[in-house]
Amino acid sequence: MGTLFRITVYAHDATSAGEAFRAAFERIADLDAALSDYKPDSELMRLCRDGHTAPVAVSADLFTVLTAAQQLAEETGGAFDVTLGPVIRLWRTARREKWLPAESDLKAAAARTGYRNVLLDPAKRTVFLKLADMQLDLGAIAKGYAADEALAVLRSHRITRALVAASGDLAIGDPPPGTTGWRVGVDSYRAEEGRFSRTLILRNAAISTSGDTEQFTEIGGVRYSHIIDPATLHGLTQRIGVTVIAARGLDADSLATALSVLGRERGLELIAKRRCAASLFVTDRGENESPSFLNAGTRAHWCGSAH
Ligand code: AMP
Ligand code: MG
Repeated sequence: MGTLFRITVYAHDATSAGEAFRAAFERIADLDAALSDYKPDSELMRLCRDGHTAPVAVSADLFTVLTAAQQLAEETGGAFDVTLGPVIRLWRTARREKWLPAESDLKAAAARTGYRNVLLDPAKRTVFLKLADMQLDLGAIAKGYAADEALAVLRSHRITRALVAASGDLAIGDPPPGTTGWRVGVDSYRAEEGRFSRTLILRNAAISTSGDTEQFTEIGGVRYSHIIDPATLHGLTQRIGVTVIAARGLDADSLATALSVLGRERGLELIAKRRCAASLFVTDRGENESPSFLNAGTRAHWCGSAH
């Protein structure tokens, strides 16, 4: 998934901690092998190759991630869309070569996208791709899911006081001994000024930050984020950092990316409709949070939290 996973646990002894670590990292490696769009032989890439010929039966993991992605795509009117792969690839090349993709190439790539062209059949657990040469990209959602799953593996080894961090995506279990939660510094682009914007104390929750602090490219004096707005087919150019707290990393990760595309007003509207999520926006116009963000640290459980 192109990132470093870090796991922190409190355990009674080093042996049981070591066994749990190994099992959790193995789970992450398996998910990486299945969900990566970099590895030609990943389950995801096989689906992209074969899914247009006939419906393809997929693993429970891939189906779970695609189901969540499709729901969020519906909810955001397509602002979040894992079928943007062909467009994302053009921007990856642009980032490397410092050259804007041609509008004609972007349009041609966009013709192979659209979340409505992915059909899921929950009864058979199959996926059908309506267009040829579609390219799914789970970069905005797989890390959060992997963090959830690593935490679940630790729990199955009876280790509940744990934190799994995949760069900006954290899945958080029970608090460290003698505390009410894990201290999490919420990074934003103000971190460039050398300070965290907020510190939260969290337990049994997931938190993700999306933004352009780390991944962006500057071409012709314009700063393009690695997050694509499907409406323009361009990387976001407005500075924005979005942090989301939710019960599951699967939701926090995907929502943080989705809200970055929607922007502050529409993003806060979407969060207001959800009982189980909170968000903080950092933009040029300052910081804005959903009311639920303010008391996030005092909540023992996020609705339905399996953590
Ligand atoms: P994140 O770091 O979680 O915000 O995810 C960013 C990654 O998600 C990008 O590097 C792309 O792989 C992918 N992506 C970019 N734009 C979108 C979008 N509008 N919807 C879904 N995934 C996207
Ligand atoms: Mg994300």
